[in-house]
Amino acid sequence: MAAYAGVDLGATNVRAVVGDESGRELGSDAGETPRGPNGIAVTEAVLDTLRGACEDADVAPGSIEAAGIGSIGPLDLAGGAVDNPANLPDTIDRIPLTGPVGELIDSDRVYLHNDTTAGVIGERYFSDRNPDDMVYLTISSGIGAGICVDGDILAGWDGNAGEVGHMTIDPTGLMTCGCGAEGHWEAYCSGNNIPRYATALHREDPVPTELPVDDGDFGAADVFAAAKRGDEFAEYVIEQVGHLNAIGVANIVNSYAPLVVYVGGAVALNNPDEVLEPIREQIPPMLMANLPDIKLTQLGDDVVVMGALASGITGGTGER
Ligand SMILES: [Zn+2]
Repeated sequence: MAAYAGVDLGATNVRAVVGDESGRELGSDAGETPRGPNGIAVTEAVLDTLRGACEDADVAPGSIEAAGIGSIGPLDLAGGAVDNPANLPDTIDRIPLTGPVGELIDSDRVYLHNDTTAGVIGERYFSDRNPDDMVYLTISSGIGAGICVDGDILAGWDGNAGEVGHMTIDPTGLMTCGCGAEGHWEAYCSGNNIPRYATALHREDPVPTELPVDDGDFGAADVFAAAKRGDEFAEYVIEQVGHLNAIGVANIVNSYAPLVVYVGGAVALNNPDEVLEPIREQIPPMLMANLPDIKLTQLGDDVVVMGALASGITGGTGER
């Protein structure tokens, strides 16, 4: 039996799985992503987690055929590393990945992707129809997409394609994005920014609400919960977020003509109807391209690590 490995390097956790050639999981391990002292410490944590998954699967690391890695960015694809990750402390400058993982598994078949690209590889590989044209969209602390067109996984220069969260969806620029630009999608609709957007909307029209908009001490989950309880202001916020999500998804669909868009990430997984329904309802008149299926991810929280495994199995394509 041939064994393969997948690694998910996130800003909070490192996860690894070992699986067989059909994508069946044989073992796994997980740990926290070190906050320092440097990038090598993160590399070591990746290797430790991968060793842990091998042990759990009862497979020697050196007998792994190939591995995929889905990682936070930005990537230096040519160098096989993460370069100055935005969501880790500044002392973590560079995280070498493909070289050290290749040494551990004694193989040069190590495929590095940003996490959403690993996501689309996983959705493709594990989907019944194994579609050639599809998108994986994550709505989480940020917003990003992995894109497959005509069977090609789009990587882009240095592996950083699919940063759709930085599309401008509001020309009035009410909200400033973490990247410094105004009006970007994720400045309104990501888990981190829904509360900031709610606060900005409330400043424009200070209606009564149960949300503590004055002290700012609430999260996206509180906004969704208040809306479900019938708080009119929270309902209005979720409505605006839904409309902006529809605009963002319509832009993606018009650009890439996918057959299906799988949506994942904590915001979508925790509020599937509130996130998916407005997109399904509102995009038809926004489209020139054919209307795709808009579905919740098939793989839940495992989409990146299972996508990384699928990448290892398929040489980075997700094609069965
Ligand atoms: Zn931005």
